[in-house]
Amino acid sequence: MTKSVILVTGGAGFIGANFIYLQQDNPDLQIVNLDKLTYAGNMVTLANLASDDRHIFVRGDIGDRQLVDSLLERYQPQAIVNFAAETHVDRSIDSPANFVETNVTGTFNLLESARKYWQSLDKVGQNKFRFLHISTDEVFGSLSPTDPAFTETTPYTPNSPYSASKASSDHFVRAYFHTYGLPTLITNCSNNYGSYQFPEKLIPLTILNAILGKPLPIYGDGQNIRDWLFVEDHCRAIDLVLNCGVPGETYNVGGGAERTNIWLVNKLCEILDEFLPESAHLPHNRSIIYVTDRPGHDRRYAIDFTKLHRDLGWQPQEDIESGLRKTVRWYLANQAWCQQVTADKYDLERLGLNK
Ligand code: NAD
Repeated sequence: MTKSVILVTGGAGFIGANFIYLQQDNPDLQIVNLDKLTYAGNMVTLANLASDDRHIFVRGDIGDRQLVDSLLERYQPQAIVNFAAETHVDRSIDSPANFVETNVTGTFNLLESARKYWQSLDKVGQNKFRFLHISTDEVFGSLSPTDPAFTETTPYTPNSPYSASKASSDHFVRAYFHTYGLPTLITNCSNNYGSYQFPEKLIPLTILNAILGKPLPIYGDGQNIRDWLFVEDHCRAIDLVLNCGVPGETYNVGGGAERTNIWLVNKLCEILDEFLPESAHLPHNRSIIYVTDRPGHDRRYAIDFTKLHRDLGWQPQEDIESGLRKTVRWYLANQAWCQQVTADKYDLERLGLNK
């Protein structure tokens, strides 16, 4: 039987790798994984796929037209799923240029390659082809405590260089549908958590610092609200949109779990107290410290995922309490992974990790 092929970009990162692992249940699917291996992408994350010939890894940049053209020509994928991006808001404040390069110019180049390839297909191939772009709820800006959650028609009002670069890439993806007919789809998702998330993000950072009795930094007053979604639920949504979504449409993906940052960090500490009763750092929340707020810090995000539920039947399977427990267990069991991915690529002093 002929295998289906998908080109996944950024599959050595957090969500992309989880997506690829989820696809391992499908014996007829081959994944070509194009990843530049920035500090956020690591082959250790893909170690469990080393002997799987359905996974082909290619190190490279989504903005490299020649490389992407040759991959499309060689593997003839039915879809491109674009996870590749610079993703850390703090880094976008320190060095916004990288965000423009990958998220805006890189996505534009990828779209150009996709358009050229798609136009070369016969009608059946063109109808089947999909370009799915993974985006964020941060493009919608910030909500007040009483505002309704973001819907697919909420105007874009990005506030950080990260969200501005993602918003820009979303606009290009939309334009390629309307201008050229390229069958694009966009998902805008809320904050993810789960296995393989690089330890600069709030949840893994809190877990790893807490284990070591290091300070647990909280921005501002800790009252910023995020809508948390377990990464495997996000990946199931992506799979559904890829297979059943209507080209040209965007779909919001959310966890229905709005929590303040201080609630989240206290909850992680509570779980660690339970899992590590012999720890020298009990109670773990005594290490919480408040630090100067991030400039332009959005106050609240919340996603209304009615459309995805109504049209495609998706809803999250994991609730926040069970998802966080799974995540803490994963980080406790995979400290070697944390050490490997942070070994030579990151300024650990900045993370407060003891290496
Ligand atoms: P991540 O930072 O963990 O991984 C990004 C991956 O992209 C890395 O493997 C990196 O090496 C790769 N990459 C970066 N630049 C590249 C380039 N020019 N060419 C090829 N590969 C490149 O990110 P993530 O958290 O997995 O996010 C994946 C996507 O999902 C991003 O587009 C992000 O905007 C979006 N998203 C993330 C979240 C979240 O909570 N993490 C929420 C909503 C949307």
